[in-house]
Amino acid sequence: MKTIGLLGGMSWESSLNYYKIINRYTNELLGGQNNAKSILYTLNFEEIEKLQYEGNWDEASKLLEEGAISLKKAGADFILICTNTMHKLLPKIKSRVDIEFLHIAKATADEIKKEKIKKVGLLGTKFTMSEDFYKGILKEEGLEVAVPNEEDMDVVHKIIYEELCLGKVKSCSKMRFLEIIDRLEDIEGVILGCTEIGMLISQKDLEIKVFDTTSIHAKEAVKMALEVKE
Ligand code: GLU
Repeated sequence: MKTIGLLGGMSWESSLNYYKIINRYTNELLGGQNNAKSILYTLNFEEIEKLQYEGNWDEASKLLEEGAISLKKAGADFILICTNTMHKLLPKIKSRVDIEFLHIAKATADEIKKEKIKKVGLLGTKFTMSEDFYKGILKEEGLEVAVPNEEDMDVVHKIIYEELCLGKVKSCSKMRFLEIIDRLEDIEGVILGCTEIGMLISQKDLEIKVFDTTSIHAKEAVKMALEVKE
């Protein structure tokens, strides 16, 4: 079994879910008392959020690189960056730290393609929804991506940072998310493209297919660690 390196703390609320899913899924596949071999490096999200807000991505990248180097030294065989947004920095981090990374958008696109879905909605931070580092990968995989309008993006972004990253799960926010998804035209599925959204919305809430990036990323890591081929 390979050792999974988790670059977490973005936020720690979602890292907790990664940890749970990875261990439970390993046990589901192997039975007995099996759980995953993993190493978690937790960044302080206060520092990360400030750098994001200032647009100081170089400094943020350095913090993630330090974390990745520590995970490698501690014996991780490959790394998961436990956030969609910070995949913005993956090309830079990869050029500086020589270890394999499991890309969250690529893992998600593979899952969507298995369902033969063409057009998906994407909810996440404003960075993820409006920039191309994430949508670009989905498009390269042949998917059509719909994102909320400017006003709805602001609502989603605010709820992520001011509630979900702090572990606050409110039913009024859930309603707003569902209304926003409903406004996305002709989508056959929706990507919960922020690792905390799964705390608020699940497949039970929607008729269209829900792709929870935390669960997809975590389970794919288990398959990679156990070298399970599909
Ligand atoms: N966890 C979130 C994501 O998946 C947002 C926090 C962050 O900015 O990293 O994008």
